[in-house]
Parts: sequence; C-alpha cells; structure tokens
Amino acid sequence: VDTRVSAAPAAAYSELTELDVQHFTTVVGGSNVITDEAALEHYNTDWMRKYRGKSRLALRPGSTTEVSRILAHCNERRLPIVPQGGNTGLVGGSVPVDDEVVLSLGRMNRVLAMDEHAGNLVCEAGCVLETLQEYVWKRGYTMPLDLGAKGSCQIGGNIATNAGGLRFLRYGSLHGSVLGLEVVLADGTVLDNLTALRKDNTGYDLKQLFIGSEGTLGVVTGCAIALPRAPTSVQLAFLGLSSFDAVLACFGAAKRDLGEVLSAVEFLDAESYELVNRHLGGRPPPLAPGSRHYMLLELSGSRAEHDQAKLSGFLEHVMAEGLVADGTIAQDQAQSQGIWRVREGITSALGKEGAVYKYDVSIPLAELYTLCEVMRARLEAHGALVTGFGHLGDGNLHLNIYTPGRFNKDPAVLAAIEPFVYEWIAERRGSISAEHGLGVMKPAFLRMSKSESMIELMRGIKGLLDPKGILNPYKVLPPLSHS
Ligand code: FAD
Repeated sequence: VDTRVSAAPAAAYSELTELDVQHFTTVVGGSNVITDEAALEHYNTDWMRKYRGKSRLALRPGSTTEVSRILAHCNERRLPIVPQGGNTGLVGGSVPVDDEVVLSLGRMNRVLAMDEHAGNLVCEAGCVLETLQEYVWKRGYTMPLDLGAKGSCQIGGNIATNAGGLRFLRYGSLHGSVLGLEVVLADGTVLDNLTALRKDNTGYDLKQLFIGSEGTLGVVTGCAIALPRAPTSVQLAFLGLSSFDAVLACFGAAKRDLGEVLSAVEFLDAESYELVNRHLGGRPPPLAPGSRHYMLLELSGSRAEHDQAKLSGFLEHVMAEGLVADGTIAQDQAQSQGIWRVREGITSALGKEGAVYKYDVSIPLAELYTLCEVMRARLEAHGALVTGFGHLGDGNLHLNIYTPGRFNKDPAVLAAIEPFVYEWIAERRGSISAEHGLGVMKPAFLRMSKSESMIELMRGIKGLLDPKGILNPYKVLPPLSHS
C-alpha cells in the first residue's frame, strides 16, 4: 500500500533549510530545537518500534503563541509537521513518515484552572494523563478516562485520538467529556473554544471535529474536561469462565444486577493470561486453573458495604448458575493492582514474545471472539498465534497475532491477515478501528468502515482547514490513488 500519496491536494513540500531552523530558534529558544540525530531517535520512533521516520527537527513549544508561530511558518513555507504527545499511539500516527518536523507538546503541561463546584478542569494539551488523575483525585474528582499508557500519554493525544480505555463503559466518549478546546489551525490561527460550559447550543459544535482527528486538522493546545466525582468505593472481581458464551451471559447478568455501579468490564482469553504471567512476573490472581476466558468487573460507587454485598451476591449467583467457574474479589489495593496488572500488561507482554500484528476493532458482541477463532485457524500454518482481549463492555476487541521467537514482520503472515480481517469486520458492519485511530496503518482500509461520500466529505474538511496539507500528512485519509 502506498501511504506516501498525500491525502491533501498539491502537497509538494519544501525542504527544511538552515534559515527555517534559525527562525524556529527565535520562536522556542535554542534548547527546544532538537537537531541532534541521537536525540531525534526518540521523536522518530513509535512506541511499538514498528514505525520510524527520518525527521531532522523536533520542536518543543512552551505556549499556544509559540505553536501558532511555528504553524504559520510551516504553512507559509509548506513544511509538513507531525504533532506528537506522549508517543504511545499504536497506529503510527505520532511519528513522521518521511522527514516531517515533529511538534512535541510535552512542555505545555500546566493545569490552568479547576472548578470544584462545577467539576471541570482546564489544562494545557501536554499534561500527562496520570498526573492529571492524581491532581483531580486529591480534589475529590476523577478523570473520565483511564488507559494502560496513562503514565506517558498526554491529554492532547487522548483527545486527538478520541481515546476510549477502561472506563468508557461508565463515563462515555471524550466527545461527551470534552467541554471546550483551544486548537491551532494549520495557518497559525488560534481557535479559542476553551469554555467549560455544559450546555452551549450556539451553532456547529466545531470542537467535535478535532476530537479523533489525529493531528490532521489542527493542534490541540488546551482543553476543558468534565470531571466525574471520585468514587469512594471501588470493588474489583476477577472471574474465570469456560467459554465465550459464558462471558456474554455473565456480562448480561452484570448489566442487569450491577448496572448502576458498573464502571469497567474487561475480558482476556487464556492465551493473554498466560503471556502476562510468563513475561511480567508477579503473582497471578488465585483462580482455579483451566479457564478459557477471564473477566474483570469493576464497581465504582459511594457505599462500600452496599457495593461489596451486591458484588458477592452477584458472584454467588453466576457461580450457582454455572456461568463462572471460579472468581475472586480483590480485598485490598494491592490485590486490585495485581488484577489490573494482568489486563494492562498484555500489550507489553506480547512485545516480548515476538513480532505482533495488532488490530483494535469493534464487532457486534455475539461474534466478538469468533474473529479470534477464525484467525487462529487461518494462521496456524504460518506458526502465528492469536490472543484476544479488550473492552468487552464497549464491544471492543484487541486482536493480537504474534510469531513467538520471530521478531521481524513476515510478509506472508501479513498477507494472510490483511485485507481478510478488515473484510470480515466490514461484512458485520463493525469498525476497523474502535479506539486507536487510523494513523498510517489503516487509511487504505478506511472504505471498510466509511462510505465513499463520507470519505469525500472528510477530504473536503481537511482541504478547508489545511489546504496545503502540512498537518500530519499520509495519516487518516486514504491515499488519493485508492479512491
Ligand atoms: P501520540 O501517540 O503522541 O499521538 C497520537 C495521535 O494524536 C497522533 O496522530 C498525533 O499526531 C496526534 N496528537 C498528539 N497530540 C496532539 C495534539 N496536542 N494535537 C493534535 N494532535 C495530537 N488507546 C485507547 O484508546 N484505549 C486504550 O485502552 C489504550 N491502551 C493503551 C495501552 C498501552 C500499553 C499503549 C502503549 C497504548 C494504549 N492506547 C490506548 C493507545 C494510546 O495510548 C492512545 O491512543 C493515546 O490517546 C495516545 O496519546 P499520546 O499522547 O501518546 O499521543
């Protein structure tokens, strides 16, 4: 697939010159202009070490004005530029494809305001998610999203990818939680929509365009986020089940019996569980051996005794019905962390095993795990193994295919996976990207999830906001040669 064909019109980019570098130095200061090859390695390489660019310049602005001046210059000179947050994205969106300038938002990490009455936070885009979580937790609130990469990912990156994560089931999408945004457009215009109002029906809700646009329409520099109250009681159960049908039945029972306090429903298969135990050490939660699937059920509420009683009652019920083979309820913080570690450690464990082919997809629940079984049968002859885990409560499967002991990607394995996997999903009207976005990995397959007329409209919006195509080229939109 030729991802090098730009989605924007007439994107003939200029070569970066010494004069450009000098100009940027006057904007951000010499220490925030990175040209050293070794130091650039970090900005050029993605989290999985799967995608690698050749940028010769990374810039670390400290304010919206600096971002605006950088973009105005890039636009004027037709220099392509890649916004980069924590660089934890899993579809290659945060690193250059070629020699684009990298715009790293990490220095813009200030909390600007918090309204403890209304429950909202205003901050710069480079704030790390975990730091924000600690900040608001101390004040009786929680962030409306949580994900395994929280220690590195930034709120601007979360917004740009419309990250889902572990609490989506409870708090919903960032399309609902983001109250306001400050965005710098490709020509340097600052779009100040940084209000924290819950209600504002004054015409088109422009901020929604930038949520999930993966840095192709503008650079997020600030945001206002609605905060849920921090729960005072959090209960966590880890369950072992013998089949995926039992997983679905148990999920149905959990929605029926625990719905109002349910805050996360995750699942993993036995393969994922074994991988984590093999590679990340620590003691696995004590469950009888032999389960085919595992579920994490989290309750967040305000009355511990009530929630504990509900969860124990639920567990007795599903075990008596034969849906759950074995289950444990975390008794303290350490046990909770141990259980979450199993779920959150799968991605890292997979990376230690061999080359990994990652697919983050939405499929109607009834067939969610069927895809893993189909791929397992299809890939057996290639010596590739399959694991499935994900955000069950959101119908979101993380399908991971890996080749134990073989760390280089194998074109034959890839050919056996793509486009088959996307076609299988399209036939069921699923999504080829549930939450990670398209980046550089999936634009060529966008047609499997979006109609031609929708893609044309997306191109029109891109052309309107970024006519020279300088913002994160080669990402999100399919190459023109494929339309
Ligand atoms: P980056 O990786 O730096 O960038 C991602 C994209 O956003 C790029 O296209 C980039 O150009 C753009 N971008 C970044 N910052 C800005 C900005 N300020 N303005 C405009 N564009 C910008 N994702 C989920 O949705 N749910 C999960 O549960 C989840 N779990 C993960 C677990 C692990 C262990 C890892 C490594 C990743 C996981 N991810 C998950 C993927 C990733 O963490 C998210 O996509 C995250 O939101 C990316 O944030 P970031 O700051 O690292 O962005």
